[in-house]
Amino acid sequence: MPEAPAAPAVSNCPACDAPLPDASCIRGVDRLHGVAGAQDVVACDRCGSGATEPPVAAGELTSLYPQAYGPYDAASGRLVGTMSAAIRWWQGRRALRRPPLASLREARAGSLVDVGCGRGDLAALFVRRGWRATGIEPSTAAVAAAREQGVDARVGTLADTPLEPGAYDAAIFQHSLEHTVEPLEDLERIRRALRPGGLVLITVPNFACWQRRRFADRWYHLDLPRHRTHFSPAGLSAVLERAGFDVLSIGTSTSTVGLPASIQYALVGRCLFPGGLALRVAAGLCVLALPIARLLDRVGGGGDQLHAVARS
Ligand SMILES: [Zn+2]
Repeated sequence: MPEAPAAPAVSNCPACDAPLPDASCIRGVDRLHGVAGAQDVVACDRCGSGATEPPVAAGELTSLYPQAYGPYDAASGRLVGTMSAAIRWWQGRRALRRPPLASLREARAGSLVDVGCGRGDLAALFVRRGWRATGIEPSTAAVAAAREQGVDARVGTLADTPLEPGAYDAAIFQHSLEHTVEPLEDLERIRRALRPGGLVLITVPNFACWQRRRFADRWYHLDLPRHRTHFSPAGLSAVLERAGFDVLSIGTSTSTVGLPASIQYALVGRCLFPGGLALRVAAGLCVLALPIARLLDRVGGGGDQLHAVARS
């Protein structure tokens, strides 16, 4: 059987389009789910973002996401299910009060699209507030779960799932833009789906943070091989402007799991709690460590999460 053609190497920065150097700054492996192989991250000299090598063809992306992948994982058992639901409820409420989603708090309920909606938990929070929510998601099982929560979820990616032009008031990329093969093209597709003046709200890991510099290939949010583009604040701003958006705000915040999980990777090299009850207990303990992580991020010059709000 002939081999599938390899995707061309990434030669320009996926964020700002500057030519990338030949040498990588990080070589790492999948410490979360153990997908075979190693990847390089090449850093852009101009904007400080990173690109994962080798590139992955769009058709091969699903092989990088096991069923146990967090946003897809259905909690089983009453105790784990209850803890999982409580954590998701707390995370959702917290996300709505903070950038970038806080920008929608005062907005009149309209229609939004959640790109990479997973099981639909975030989009469902908006449905309960009167919004019409569309979700785009490659996992068939996750889409079925999202539909049960009232989300108009569609199987696919933005490249193969056309959206109605000018139909949406807001678009959300909550930890999904770093996964896409074509971040610029996906933002252009979303801009065409938004009405004039519609908002795009993005959260991605912050490749420019001290935690990434300190932990390097053991930084939790590197998440190789699933994260394809690693955005810096300058890079996220650049790709939004290239896609035709007006950037309204860029900022950082501290994630609950980032620092404890990076320390775990530094000590034992892999995730000890990939799922089940242990993961839920560990996630609860991470919340207790949040004030320390926040203090260190303040001293280190910024958090491990990066947010942007931009207008079409
Ligand atoms: Zn760049």
